[in-house]
Amino acid sequence: MQSIHSYSFQNKKALVRVDFNVPLENSTFEITDDTRIKAAVPTIKKILSAGGSVILMTHLGRPKNGPDEASSLRHILKRIEDVCETKVSFSKSCIGKEAEVACSKLKFGEILVLENVRFFKEETNGDRAFAQYLAKLGDCYVNDAFGTAHRAHASTTIIADFFPNDKMFGLLMEREILNIDKVLCSSEAPKTAIVGGAKVSSKITIIENLLSKMNSIIIGGGMAYTFIKAQGGKIGSSLVEDDYLQTALNILEKAKQRGVEIILPIDTIIADSFTNNAKRKEVKISEIPDGWMGLDTGKKSQILFDTVLSNSKIILWNGPMGVFEFTNFQSGTKQIAKSIVDATQKGAFSLVGGGDSVAAVNKFGFADTVSYVSTGGGAMLEYLEGIDLPGIKAIRN
Ligand code: AMP
Repeated sequence: MQSIHSYSFQNKKALVRVDFNVPLENSTFEITDDTRIKAAVPTIKKILSAGGSVILMTHLGRPKNGPDEASSLRHILKRIEDVCETKVSFSKSCIGKEAEVACSKLKFGEILVLENVRFFKEETNGDRAFAQYLAKLGDCYVNDAFGTAHRAHASTTIIADFFPNDKMFGLLMEREILNIDKVLCSSEAPKTAIVGGAKVSSKITIIENLLSKMNSIIIGGGMAYTFIKAQGGKIGSSLVEDDYLQTALNILEKAKQRGVEIILPIDTIIADSFTNNAKRKEVKISEIPDGWMGLDTGKKSQILFDTVLSNSKIILWNGPMGVFEFTNFQSGTKQIAKSIVDATQKGAFSLVGGGDSVAAVNKFGFADTVSYVSTGGGAMLEYLEGIDLPGIKAIRN
């Protein structure tokens, strides 16, 4: 396997798979968050400064039937130029004559953007001929798209086969792997994971995998009520997955056998309806009256979680601790973020990942005060589940 740090890019055209799937305003196509573009800049600049040129491949949106104006990379070209501080050229198709000519004309130190790879269904189908066609456009392949590393698509995985000696991770991808591995594999202790969010069913494999990696697991958010009900608690009309009551008990039992501490909330803020302006009360989590639902973590639980986190050396957070989208039910999520920041300031390594917890640290302004915020939603979750991600495997093999 090659390394971007030692590979010679001199006079080489590097095909770089990035994840520029940025959110766009519906009517104006203005970019509302350019984090993903900024995240790829170190890799792009590294290749250019080493004497190479860069051919960027990415998807944008979810085009279903071929080329689609709303998902055209034309909308983001100007921002790529601004962020990379250089002009970029554009090919209106990622394959075909235009792409071939544009790539052959590319001079060293220049950037070319290929149109959305998902305008061809062959991309998501992982088509080998399509991947080979893309591969012919460059001399080496750099995968810097951690956000799509869990997909065995043509430009994220299959293409690597055509560069047996000239494939490598980009700097962002490298950093993501390093930081997640630091949480999962570090021998520092105590290690605490906080798993929140709506459903046990979507996080079960992650929790099971974390049982062999962590000393403590805090379970919060909507999924906590399934655990409380499974243990005989009264949860009113809180979110519950009745099919997973036994699963919840199995997890508690497995944790006990392994000596992993599972920490559940002890109190909760309940509401008489699923609205921000609902009536609120704070009660013991196992004594929720009929007609009421738990939407946030109570004060005593917040203190309990803070104590655990303040003693932790490695912290992983995925999933909110309540319905943080409602300002009246965000305190548990805000407090856990604050406890993580405090622990980080005391020397702990903290990683936040997965859609809604990243949205939460951004919302509360804590993104710069945790150790690392992962850019990969689904990819990060699958990595935490212990899955060998195809995009990573394709580079390593
Ligand atoms: P997930 O995508 O599984 O991480 O779930 C995130 C969602 O869980 C957010 O939209 C939260 O509003 C929601 N959530 C967290 N706590 C609760 C709760 N107690 N009841 C209902 N939904 C919740």
